[in-house]
Amino acid sequence: MPRAPAVARTLPSLRRALESLRARGATVALVPTMGALHDGHLALVHQAKRRASKVIVSIFVNPTQFAPHEDFGSYPRTWKADVARLAEARVDLVWNPGVGTMYPPGFATRILTEGPAAAGLEDRFRPHFFGGVATVVGKLFAQCRPDIALFGQKDYQQLKVVTRMAADLDLGVKVVGVPIVRERDGLAMSSRNVYLSSGQRAVAPTLHRVMKDAARRLRNGESLETVIADGARTIGDAGFVLDYFEARHAETLAPVRSIKDGPVRLLVAARIGTTRLIDNIGV
Ligand code: AMP
Repeated sequence: MPRAPAVARTLPSLRRALESLRARGATVALVPTMGALHDGHLALVHQAKRRASKVIVSIFVNPTQFAPHEDFGSYPRTWKADVARLAEARVDLVWNPGVGTMYPPGFATRILTEGPAAAGLEDRFRPHFFGGVATVVGKLFAQCRPDIALFGQKDYQQLKVVTRMAADLDLGVKVVGVPIVRERDGLAMSSRNVYLSSGQRAVAPTLHRVMKDAARRLRNGESLETVIADGARTIGDAGFVLDYFEARHAETLAPVRSIKDGPVRLLVAARIGTTRLIDNIGV
């Protein structure tokens, strides 16, 4: 049995743990998560281990990035299994603050995000989301003072928002993006995939299939308009309610009219039943 990582739940215990981690000039990587860990999260941990001598994983289901009608209450929480996986991956420290530690009474400050956070993708459907993410990630960076932090390309717009924030606020953290880890049938791994019924799970890989097909057709010179319209129709026919399926500039997230305006990233968000899935792919 690998040794369990140290766990800090309060700021004083985090500070003590950081002091001992930082001894002898170690470099520190932070992997922020909401728990319910899967192989996508573990890919971030493995990258972190390659790039820094000590690895902290934070597990905090952040209430401020959920709207009242969203799934904060039912979000999967699998603490014991998470710690076992982090022990196996030889993570050094788990930062698991309570809501009262992150947002004590009187808490009244938020980071306001613009630029990539106002690209008209996730922000159009979850207007509360990036303010909540930027504020909690800003706090995690201030608390853990990592040299690098790892984020998945799965949440592509979030990766751009956090990268921008770290640069804009001179946080001294290098933000590193990690490619999407998928199930064998192409579905992007997500803690929310457990919400899918078996019927929904069977159609869920449609999103990746449509994006792969769209990317291939675009590379073959077909028009963006046609390819996006066909993809949107296929996603709808499979039983999804589509929030968006768009081609954007991979760096700025600005709309593009053809792949000549690229590099291009295709991004999709769609709901099946009550579950909302997001995914993206490079062209
Ligand atoms: P979450 O716990 O869902 O907030 O995700 C924590 C981090 O893991 C975020 O940076 C996500 O982008 C990343 N992540 C989640 N799923 C995947 C995946 N399938 N592949 C790569 N990274 C992922």
